[in-house]
Amino acid sequence: MVGITLLMLLLACCCCYFSVLDERTILENLDARYSNDQIYTYCGSILVSVNPYHMFNIYGLDMVKRYEGQPIGALPPHLFAISSTAYGRMMKNTENQVIVISGESGAGKTEATKLTMQYLAAVNRSGSSTITEQILEANPLLESFGNAKTIRNDNSSRFGKYIEVFFKQGSIVGARTSEYLLEKSRIVTQAPEERNYHVFYEMLAGMSGDRRKQFGLTSPEKYFYLNQGGSCTLSSRDDSDSYRMLCDAFQVLNFSRQEEETIHKILAAVLHCGNIFFKRIMVDNHDTVEMGSSAEVKWISHLLELSDDWLKQALTQKVTETKGDRVLTPYNIDQALDSRDAISKALYSRLFTWLVERINMIVCRAEREKSSSLAVLDIFGFEDFHVNSFEQLCINYANETLQFFFNQHVFRLEQKEYAKEKIEWSNIDFQDNQPATDNSFLEKCHFHHSDNGLYGKPRMSHPEFHVNHYAGKIKYSVLHFLEKNKDTLRSDVVELLCESKNKMIAQMFKEMRDRFINKTLNKATGRFVTMKPRTPTVAANFSESLLSLIDTMSRCNPYFVRCIKPNNDKAPMSFERSVVLDQLRYTGMLETIRIRKMGFPVRVKFHHFIERYRCVLRGERIHVNHLPTDVCLMILKTQPSHLVHLYRIGATKKSYVREDNMVKQKWTN
Ligand code: ATP
Ligand code: MG
Repeated sequence: MVGITLLMLLLACCCCYFSVLDERTILENLDARYSNDQIYTYCGSILVSVNPYHMFNIYGLDMVKRYEGQPIGALPPHLFAISSTAYGRMMKNTENQVIVISGESGAGKTEATKLTMQYLAAVNRSGSSTITEQILEANPLLESFGNAKTIRNDNSSRFGKYIEVFFKQGSIVGARTSEYLLEKSRIVTQAPEERNYHVFYEMLAGMSGDRRKQFGLTSPEKYFYLNQGGSCTLSSRDDSDSYRMLCDAFQVLNFSRQEEETIHKILAAVLHCGNIFFKRIMVDNHDTVEMGSSAEVKWISHLLELSDDWLKQALTQKVTETKGDRVLTPYNIDQALDSRDAISKALYSRLFTWLVERINMIVCRAEREKSSSLAVLDIFGFEDFHVNSFEQLCINYANETLQFFFNQHVFRLEQKEYAKEKIEWSNIDFQDNQPATDNSFLEKCHFHHSDNGLYGKPRMSHPEFHVNHYAGKIKYSVLHFLEKNKDTLRSDVVELLCESKNKMIAQMFKEMRDRFINKTLNKATGRFVTMKPRTPTVAANFSESLLSLIDTMSRCNPYFVRCIKPNNDKAPMSFERSVVLDQLRYTGMLETIRIRKMGFPVRVKFHHFIERYRCVLRGERIHVNHLPTDVCLMILKTQPSHLVHLYRIGATKKSYVREDNMVKQKWTN
């Protein structure tokens, strides 16, 4: 006996689903629901979440219990419905699940991620509470180091993260975080009204006076790396409170006193680094520099346990080796400042990666073997600023890749499904930007893409190019592109950091050296000299990790949460339609809706359909020999003929055989 799927357009539906699918209706629907304090709405199985900028009492244990075990649609739309469905499916099929949370800065991705984690912790009643607490505590730690105030969001994540939570028999046994593309420029420069990473301000606000002295530190206003944005404090965040939470997280995650101390030393060294200044001097008609003061260099050498001279040399001279000879070329002032900033960025970003690895070591236990996982992806949304640079290209490339993943999942699989079911369906085009997002685009920059229809050539007078992303056309400025893409720290600087007397610092940089560079020992000098990056560029590196992410995710069953920012003023419960409409486009929602509208989005299993609608037959006799198809047709024929185009009956579907057989038996009995 074959199973049959009935596909039909939903004629009447409840208001938490989009029924009439067009731009205006969607906006009106979202707006109406939002003003009714309903921030969640389903679009098919996608959850749309509009940021309320106001904490509703809808995430308590009562809600966890209410949604636990309930499939999507059984209760009003909620983030917990997604978590619960994903959890349930993982338990039932031991199939890995992923919740992809996307949206622009300030839309609520990180809050949604935290709430999902809290849901998982709450349903994990029989699991170890220590590991669960450690997993949750990793969050404030990573936020301190990876989040910052921007003009869009007081707590903006400046890195992408993918958290996999591992389960065995429904209980949490571990977790692993992967981080993507920490914004490095923020460590040395901040735009007006923005701040550096929270941790610097937290440390200065939360440390005792004595302890600050121990690191040679004063108040944040005194540091060039902290004061460029204009204001060092935040009304929405108490830095000393957050510092206490950070110290608690260090404790829960079993950081040793020594590790904590070294982390503080590195942070302090970065701040001192930013205050190094130079005097411009002319030597033999060449623009060169000398150190403006030695205090900072002394502090850095002391904190990082390095010799005094190395830093001065690294900051003022370039070292090249030719045929075993070391040649020193003096820097001009710009080069000196660049090398200062490069050291700071390397120190901080290496510390960040080390922290993620350290957390993983604690929370990602061996037991995760043979476990199933539920992952959450919290990644930067599409960006279009006044000036878009290399970072935006990487971020938008990531979004393009994710959009492709989404398209592939939602649309391509849908189309295949229709074909398999032999349902007539005129092939619908969706914007598939795959050709513009391959490695060569990022690696070779724009030169190879002039023939690409999605690519725009730079005008001679402007060093820029544009890309037709799925979300719209974005103009990129190529200024500093190559430099940002190279982002390699001078090999002699890496070597010197490897020689730190502080074991943790030395180890951190040795790992970095071994991972990213091929070293060659110069026998004459006894030093490592030729450092060839194994992965040539930041973009190539990023692209590689992104593809591996997509590969991992494609082995999971995905759920999509689209976060929407309702206004640009962080104002509670204020819905501006123009702001929302842009995002519906950026998040690919309008495209999704267009496709869904053209197809048959609602599938009702044969027996469900019969059970639900047999009443319209008004007692008409169903013969035992009637096939389920016949009964469906009988029901449908009771409807006016002009509705005929609204449904289709599908072909055989193997996965339904068992269920339909059961129904048939029930039927014939
Ligand atoms: P970014 O890309 O900059 O990291 P994001 O999408 O992660 O942005 P969040 O930091 O999650 O944005 O949210 C920004 C702010 O919006 C939060 O600090 C919080 O004040 C508010 N917010 C987000 N989601 C919710 C929610 N569900 N309920 C209440 N407030 C929320
Ligand atoms: Mg965030």
